[in-house]
Amino acid sequence: MELIRDVVKTMRARPLIECAQCGGRIYIPEWSECLEGGRVRHLWQCEACGYAFETTVRFAEPVEA
Ligand SMILES: [Zn+2]
Repeated sequence: MELIRDVVKTMRARPLIECAQCGGRIYIPEWSECLEGGRVRHLWQCEACGYAFETTVRFAEPVEA
């Protein structure tokens, strides 16, 4: 049972997003790309309806004075 618990923990740590079109859950981005300024762009594609979209996540970084 340890193995199952570990798998669940791993899945929770992954990016998770809902399809904007059908509301289906998407667990793994099709593509991830690091951008300038500490941003990461994810490309998502819904398996249920085929809808594809992008999100951009920006990680907080110290502001230089
Ligand atoms: Zn969908």
